[in-house]
Amino acid sequence: MAGAGEAEAALLAWMDRALAVAKEALEKGEVPVGCLLVYEGEVIGRGRNEVNETKNATRHAEMVAIDQVLDWCKQHKRDYREVFPQLVLYVTVEPCIMCAAALRLMSILSCCGSVLSISSDDMVDSGDPFECSSGYRAEEAVELLKAFYRQENPNAPKSKVRKKDRRR
Ligand SMILES: [Zn+2]
Repeated sequence: MAGAGEAEAALLAWMDRALAVAKEALEKGEVPVGCLLVYEGEVIGRGRNEVNETKNATRHAEMVAIDQVLDWCKQHKRDYREVFPQLVLYVTVEPCIMCAAALRLMSILSCCGSVLSISSDDMVDSGDPFECSSGYRAEEAVELLKAFYRQENPNAPKSKVRKKDRRR
């Protein structure tokens, strides 16, 4: 019989893959959030923040992944209303209100992440709350965020950066 340890190992493996997506975001100068939408053991949505790249404040990892799932459904001639309720979201950082509401509207099955609570709260009338489990790979996700906020804003114009006089 497959024990709880095995299920947890599988979950952590998905979280590692989501973290790899978050690292990609960090390398591109985006807030490091990554997520996967998994359907029957297959990744059909894979998103990272694209806010700076697209200059669109709504291009959060989850929204990018939702769009990919909609494309996947079109390509595979599947009804998204049947696919979304089977989806499991693996995300490195708690979805914001916008994404949580979108995920609820699309009726995803469940959500696993590092730090979560909002998606199960009764804060907006946007469909049934989905099941959440949190606490997975939280340290790694937080480390990525810290790394992002430590670096200088890569979008700042170069001319504004003054070089220090090195002569002593
Ligand atoms: Zn969001």
